[in-house]
Amino acid sequence: MISAVLPTYNRAPVAFDHGEGSWLTATDGRRFLDLGSGIAVNALGHCHPELVRTLTEQAQKLWHVSNVYSIPEQERLAALLVERTFADTVFFTNSGTETAELAIKMARKFHYENGQPERTGFIAFEGAFHGRSTGAIAAAGSEKMVKGFGPLMPGFTTLPWGDMAALRAALTDQTCAVIVEPIQGEGGIRPLPDAMLKEIRALCDATGTLLILDEVQCGMGRTGKLFAHEWKGVTPDVMMVAKGIGGGFPLGAVLATERAAKGMVAGTHGSTYGGNPLGCAVGARVVELVSDPAFLAEVGRKGALLRQGLEGLVASHPKVFEEVRGEGLMLGLKCRPAPADVVKAGYAQEILTVAAADNVLRLLPALNIPDEDIAEALARLDRTATEIEKSL
Ligand SMILES: *Cc1c(COP(=O)(O)O)cnc(C)c1O
Repeated sequence: MISAVLPTYNRAPVAFDHGEGSWLTATDGRRFLDLGSGIAVNALGHCHPELVRTLTEQAQKLWHVSNVYSIPEQERLAALLVERTFADTVFFTNSGTETAELAIKMARKFHYENGQPERTGFIAFEGAFHGRSTGAIAAAGSEKMVKGFGPLMPGFTTLPWGDMAALRAALTDQTCAVIVEPIQGEGGIRPLPDAMLKEIRALCDATGTLLILDEVQCGMGRTGKLFAHEWKGVTPDVMMVAKGIGGGFPLGAVLATERAAKGMVAGTHGSTYGGNPLGCAVGARVVELVSDPAFLAEVGRKGALLRQGLEGLVASHPKVFEEVRGEGLMLGLKCRPAPADVVKAGYAQEILTVAAADNVLRLLPALNIPDEDIAEALARLDRTATEIEKSL
């Protein structure tokens, strides 16, 4: 008999009752060290006191009003994002998937407005993940996500990850937009090869193509900059943000330049919930805390600390771990066994990690994880690897 909850997840037999910082307490009382953060969502850990305060204060004032009214909390968060990024304008959503939908619509509308309605084709990359809507799965194109759900939205070309020659051949003055994650998350913590983002930007400029960056996972401080593309010295035309921006509250945002957003006038897009006072009050507090340069510098330092420890684990457990990759606190351990087995072995050591493609174990701790929790995580991962070795 089918479960009451649609069985689209292979769920672990563990449930949590409460959380604090990097720790989650299970319903049976076990305390787990959380290096998954709800897949990079709990950017400031569980129940951060400032966020709890912001949320409860706003909850006592106003939760939701329609976007047919002005929403000061939304305007405040948009102004913060505009001030701290390349963007001139922001639309709020409830998820990452919805940001993909708007990014696609915005790019097509841009060319339509420019008198080139035939420019509808997108270029994306293998291993990409942009969400689960029909548009987002068409953009990612992987067999696993699209099989049985056709016909797909037409207009998407998927190129091998990092293949500049293929991109040069595919990108023409008839392309609508390139959509890419600066660091693939679900794809296995795969950073774009060095200098590639710069070259993609130059090719887009030369052909009048828009550049959409999906920073849903790698953005919001994860790499030690507010957004990952800042490391590369280029800016996108449109950027997708979600996951960490709500610190656990469902919130996403599409950031765009005035030029890219020119076709998105009243009536062209909307959302019932997107940008409501509750979500935006929390989001504004997250952005304020995370965009502080001192906070971001700490993310970089903690990332280096974790990475150094992980390099040590690769050296001491060569039969389990192959290499470390990623940036800041978005790190991946390439595994020799299936990463799902490593995640599972981690449960016995009370540590939470996340599997990804390309045989990678993802580590996405809270951005403010204390150094002693990093040390504890490394000790637990060390014990996890030792247990796996016994069974090899
Ligand atoms: C998670 C994710 C999405 C989809 O976000 P949802 O909130 O699950 O819809 C899109 N892009 C990237 C890079 C992601 O990691």
